[in-house]
Amino acid sequence: MGALRRWLGRTAMEVAAVGGIAWVQLRRRRYRRRGRSLTSEERSSLATFFDEALLDSVRVCEVPRIEPGLPVWVIRALRLPASVDISFASGMAFVDAVVISDAARRRENPAAILFHELVHCAQFRELGVYRFLRRYLVGWAAAGFNYFAIPLEEQAYELQDRFEAGESFDVRQELRRFDAA
Ligand SMILES: [Zn+2]
Repeated sequence: MGALRRWLGRTAMEVAAVGGIAWVQLRRRRYRRRGRSLTSEERSSLATFFDEALLDSVRVCEVPRIEPGLPVWVIRALRLPASVDISFASGMAFVDAVVISDAARRRENPAAILFHELVHCAQFRELGVYRFLRRYLVGWAAAGFNYFAIPLEEQAYELQDRFEAGESFDVRQELRRFDAA
């Protein structure tokens, strides 16, 4: 029974991760279609932090409210608590498509929100979709579903704080430094 249970658990995780890739790609296509390129002001304020290829590829989509972060079947497959909901988020990144909530843009510093989501785009580039998803989900579960304690979020918030403090740095180098630590 133990072996069967382990096999079923592993299968559920695989199905969720593979399904997660399809879900990310679906959102990515949707938000890229509706999104816009970065403005020249955004580009110049972000040029020291991100490489040109990333700034060229990214599309930004502004929406009234962020949709729930995970489809219900993924929450069930991973046996996540039903309370898991990150629709309060200011934005979300899907590979090279970023969605940002209008309410958050009024409430917070829009440049900082955009910066934070671009850090996630850079993480997607470094890790690939599958490894990003796996790390995000595993980190979330390990943190007791505390969104702010997910390692990939801790990295994004730390770099966002430094961005808001007026520091200059290369995001990709910083991400590699986190991984080496
Ligand atoms: Zn984030």
